[in-house]
Parts: sequence; C-alpha cells; structure tokens
Amino acid sequence: MPTKTLTIGLAGNPNCGKTTMFNALTGAHQHVGNWPGVTVEKKSGKIITDEFILDVVDLPGTYSLTAYSEEEKAARNFLTDDHPHVVINVLNADSLERNLYLAIQIMELGVPLVLALNMMDEVRKAGKDINVPLLTKLMGCPAVETVARQGKGKRELLEEAVRVATTKNGRTEPLRISYGPDLDPVLDAMEPIIAQAGLLAEKGPARWVGIKYLEGDTSVIRHGQEQNPNVSRQLEAMVAKVAQHLKATLSAGPDGIIADYRYGYLAGIAKQVVSYPTINAERIRLSDRIDRVLTHQFAGPIVMALIIYLLYTITFALGKFPMDGLEAAFGWLGDTVKDAMGDGLLRSLIVDGAIAGVGGVMGFVPLIMIMFFLLSALEDTGYVARMAYMLDRVFRIFGLHGTSVLPFIISGGIAGGCAVPGVMASRTLRSPKEKLATLLVAPFMTCGAKVPVFLMLAAAFFPGAEASVMTAVTLSAWVAALLVAKLLRTTVVKGESTPFVMELPPYRMPTLRGLCIHTWERSWQYMRKAGTVILGISILLWAAMTFPSLPADLAKPFEDRIAAIQAQADEAKPEAPAEAVAAAQASAEGKKNAGEDDAPLTPQEKAIKGIEAEKAEAELLNSFAGRAGVAMEKVMSPAGFNWRVNISLLGGFAAKEVIVSTLGTAYSLGKIEAEEAAPLSEKISQDETFSKAGALALIAFVILYAPCFVTIVTMAKEVGWKWAAFSMGFNTALAYVVAVIVFQTSRLLA
Ligand code: GDP
Ligand code: MG
Repeated sequence: MPTKTLTIGLAGNPNCGKTTMFNALTGAHQHVGNWPGVTVEKKSGKIITDEFILDVVDLPGTYSLTAYSEEEKAARNFLTDDHPHVVINVLNADSLERNLYLAIQIMELGVPLVLALNMMDEVRKAGKDINVPLLTKLMGCPAVETVARQGKGKRELLEEAVRVATTKNGRTEPLRISYGPDLDPVLDAMEPIIAQAGLLAEKGPARWVGIKYLEGDTSVIRHGQEQNPNVSRQLEAMVAKVAQHLKATLSAGPDGIIADYRYGYLAGIAKQVVSYPTINAERIRLSDRIDRVLTHQFAGPIVMALIIYLLYTITFALGKFPMDGLEAAFGWLGDTVKDAMGDGLLRSLIVDGAIAGVGGVMGFVPLIMIMFFLLSALEDTGYVARMAYMLDRVFRIFGLHGTSVLPFIISGGIAGGCAVPGVMASRTLRSPKEKLATLLVAPFMTCGAKVPVFLMLAAAFFPGAEASVMTAVTLSAWVAALLVAKLLRTTVVKGESTPFVMELPPYRMPTLRGLCIHTWERSWQYMRKAGTVILGISILLWAAMTFPSLPADLAKPFEDRIAAIQAQADEAKPEAPAEAVAAAQASAEGKKNAGEDDAPLTPQEKAIKGIEAEKAEAELLNSFAGRAGVAMEKVMSPAGFNWRVNISLLGGFAAKEVIVSTLGTAYSLGKIEAEEAAPLSEKISQDETFSKAGALALIAFVILYAPCFVTIVTMAKEVGWKWAAFSMGFNTALAYVVAVIVFQTSRLLA
C-alpha cells in the first residue's frame, strides 16, 4: 500500500489538450472544487500506483506566469506556493516555439518539469518531425510524445514524471538563460541582494525574483515591498535605471527585452529540433525569409565571409586616419616638450616614458570606437547570432563558440588586426567559459605590430618569400589558437559542455542613438585605463631600459670620438665665403620644407650618428633590461636567441612595435622605424650568433608569447587580473617550449 503522495501539476497554454490529457490520466477519479480565493474551477484526480499516490491537478490554461487574469494567478500561485513535486507541461507541439514559452518560466522557477509533446498526430500530418532526444537535451528536461485524444504516451509520461519527482529528491536547478548584455549584469547584481535578504525565497529562486522585478510583475513587487521595503526599493531603483538605459538605446522596456530573449532562445531550439521532411506551405515570417538566404548552406558562409571582411577592412581602413593623426599629435607633443626642456632624465621620462606610453595607448581609441560601432550594429540587428549558428559546428570541436570568430578576426586572424579591440569583442560571447577561452587565445593572431617582425625576419632569412612566410604565420596562428583553446577547455577552463542553444532573435533595425551610446560606453572604459595603469607600466619599462645609465668612464670613449671628429671637421673646413655658407644652408632648408627630411649627411655627421648608435647600444646593454637580456642567454640559447633578441622580446611585453625598434638599437642602428627595417634585416642575417633556425624559433615565439601590456590590461578588465596574469605566464612558457622545439628540429633538418 503506497503511503507517499506526489503532487503533479498539469500546466499548459489554453487549448493544448490539457484537460483531455487529465481525463486520460485520471479516468473517473476526479474531484472538482475551486481554487482558493478565486472563482476558478480546480480539478484534481488521484492515481494509485505500486509506490505512490499521485495527486494530479489540472491547472488553468495560461500563456505566461506573469499573473494578469484570475486563471493565470491561480496557476502561478499553485507553482510558487503549493510547491508541486513535478509539473507536466502539455504542449501543442504543432507550435512548439510559442508553447515552450511557459516551460522556460516554470524552469526558471526551479520547478521540476516534464514536457508532453501533445498533438503529435497533427504534427506528423503537417509533414513535420520533432527530434525528441535533442529537445530533451537542449531544454534539460525530459520530453515525451503524446496524443492525448487517443491516450497515446500517457504511461510513459507518468513514468517520467514520477522519475523526475523522485530523483535528486525532486530538486532541480533553476534554468538560467541569458537576457543579453544589458539585463544580465543587472540580474547578476540583483541576485545576491535578493538571496542575502531572503526576499520572497519561499516563492522562487533569487534570479527568478529579479526577473519578475524586471518584468514589472505587480504582484511579486507588492509582496516584495511588504516583506522588505528597503531591499525592494533598492531593486526597483536598479530596474528603473536599466529601463531608462534600454529606452534610450533600444527603445524597449525590460519586459520586452526579456520576451525577445526568451523567444530568441526558443527559436534557436525550434530551429534545431523541428524538421520538415515533407514540403509544406508554412507561412514564412520576414525573419525566416531573410534567414533563408543569410543562413543558407552555401550562400550563408559566403555572405558571412563578405561581412567579416567588410567589418575588418572598414575598421582598419577608417581607423588608420585618426590613428595616424593621433600618432602625429603625440609625436608633435613629444617633440615640443623635447625642444622646450633641457637634455636630461626628466625629459626622457616625460617624452619616452609618459607621452610615448600614453600616446601608444590612445592611438587604439579610434580603432576601438569604429570596431564597437560596427560590431554593435551587427549584434543589434541579430546577425551575430546567425554567424554563431553557422560556425558553431566547427568551433565547438575546439570548445569555442561560433561567435569566437569575431574576436579572432579582429585580433589579426586576417594579418594586421589588433588584440586590444579583439579581446573586447569577446563580449559578444555569452558563456563565460567560452569567452575566457576565446580571449586567452585571440592574442596569438597576427596583429599589425607583429607583422614588421615577421617581415623583417623573412627579408633576412627567406628573401623573396615574404608573402609565403606571412601566409604560413597567419595559418599557424589560427592552428595555435584553436589547439590551445582545446587544451584550455579540457584543463583549466574546463566546464561541462552545456547543451548549446542558439539564440536567434528576430531581425531588428538598430538605432543610431543606441549604437552611439554603446560605442561611447565601451571606449570610455578603455580610455580611463590609459590614464592610470598603463601610464605606470610604460614608465616602469622606460626605467628598465634607461637605468642604470652608462658610467662616465664607459660613456667617455664615445664622447671623445665624437669630439675628435668634430675637431677634425672644424680644422678641415676651408675658409668659405659667408654667402656660400648661407646659400648651402638655404638650399638645405628648402629641401626640408619640401618634405625631404634627409638632407644629405656629411661623412662627419654620418660618423657621429654611427658612434651615437654604438653608444645607444652600450647604454641599452648596460640597463636593467640589457643585463636581463644577457642573463637570459643561458635560458634562451636552446631556442637560438642571443642577448639582443632577448632584450627586444622584453620590450615586446610593452608593445610588439618595440621588438623591431629595440633590435635596431641593440644592433647599433640607432632609432629605426618598424616599417623601414631593411638595414636591420641585413645586419641580423650577418649576425653569427643568430641563425635561420633561430629566426623560425623567433617567429614561433612572437606568435605565442605574452600579449602586449595594453592587451593584458584589457583582459584584466574583461576577466580579472588572475586570468590576465595567467595569459602572460602561460603564453610565454608555451612560446618557450615551442621555440625550443622549432629551433632544435630545424637545426637538425638544416
Ligand atoms: P485544454 O483547454 O488545454 O484543456 O485543451 P482540451 O483538452 O480542451 O483540448 C482542446 C482540443 O484539442 C479538444 O478538441 C481536444 O479534443 C483536442 N485534442 C487534445 N489532445 C489532442 C491530440 O493529441 N491530438 C489532436 N488531434 N487533438 C487533441
Ligand atoms: Mg481545459
């Protein structure tokens, strides 16, 4: 004789066949009464099995759990107050998407759920099919096919219900779906406040209470106010704030956005589980019609490649002008300060440390603004979701998400990108684990600052094959990013792979105002960083390459040699008539004004420049960075790197542009521009302590090792300092191991 009673609620939209199912399940054993406080009929019935007494309750039909009508209130209160052991949600499977809307809300309440896919006879007649195992997996609760009118599937349905009610003590984790970049942070902030205050804890989980507040559910808010006026007021203020923001950017309220994301979530599920083996005349909505092309098997990827290419080209082509302008402005500022101040450490600190450092950082701002503007547009229209949908199958293999392609491309998946906006673009990823893995490997991509390093090495050791080298480098970076992502996802960024649901929200026209607000918010966050952390770091690096300064007795020989040349020149200078000197000067000036900076140098000036470059090399060698470079030779020689390479790699921690310019100084070429590295290529190819095998190892090292400091700070902002530090350490260790392997094997093969 069973003693334990299980309460089973039957929920569903009106006309889904709920009452028919109730009758089929309970037969004649029915009891009709009223729901407490309302004049809504309550039907319940008992089923006695070997183990349990099942108390089945037929709930009033309802589309959502936001209580408007008496019926809906009765259904809602049953779920929140009566705590049934399990709920069977009867669905009209013929319009799955719309019917699952209620299921999501029940699951958010954390009530154990079983889905009855009713009217399967109609579904089949319409030429459709539903992949039930996949639906079970995606929704995270069992689904059973039924035809209530014929009593089909009712046994299985009851078995599942009892199983769900009795396993894990009938406890179920509440469903958590994303409500997008605007609402998710608010919900995340509300949740601990609600949980700590225990607000309405007897009704539902904290996140659910938060969602109800966002939806403006009057009954929940009223209960909240009664229970804890202070906390309730705090929550209402948070809702008001985000509501205002949403109104300005998307001209929609939180409830509208919540509904959108729920439908998006369900559209994603329906798209995967409902198939049309036989052609039928479904009414096609506009979104669907657009998707016919944009997610078409062949046309889809082509359109996507085109859009990615455009996003990339426009970002960097448009970004070039303001970037060049900013660079020039900071260059001008540096020169002006240089002229205004006397030679000395303070001047070097301000010009080479502060202005150069902050200037380098601010230079990225236009890039970030343009990238975010275009990305926000793509996101707001709903296209990013489609992109993820198409690419997901490939990226999933590596533990990533279809949307990972955006951060990769922007970081330099097409050579010439930049990891700073790339890392920031990882925000389009909603799963924290996938976002983390993506932004950790995105900096492997060939950013614009790495390109000159590869080109310089190619010119030195593979002359004529620069294009092939660049192609190989770009491909290697992709392979490395995907493989390392896989490695991370199976080790430190491990997370049970949640069944993936694509969110396909309806297409929507973004508003210019909304795009501008998004763009500005994100850019401003970045700029604030530039003023603080990055300034400090660039000064630290400046100090490492400047101190200790060359002792007087070591500096003296250089100064003596320069003085000797000058004296010699003065002596040798013939007594020229004053007009001739003036004419020569005028012509030199004229050339300068015409844009030719390099007035031909006299042999003496050339000699002096050479000596100054030698002195700069000696100063660098004597600095902390230089000493570190020498000290590192023991460790780095298995990878084929000499001290010059080591110092430049140290400089590369600050910015990858620094690699080529530091190598220039270390090879006593003076200050060289990354774009004009031909003399460096020549020098390095003649260096007996550096080889072709070393060059290959260096290429591998530069692809893999720690991201530049601006990227690190950006990462810290996204995922915290712990992971930013991990990225520095792990990438450098990986780079070292790979570089050693590359050097040793290519030496053997050579
Ligand atoms: P409720 O309002 O949710 O209680 O839905 P009902 O139980 O009243 O059913 C609505 C209509 O759908 C009735 O005409 C039922 O006969 C019909 N119906 C219920 N289940 C099925 C089914 O599995 N297949 C078909 N074809 N019709 C069904
Ligand atoms: Mg009914």
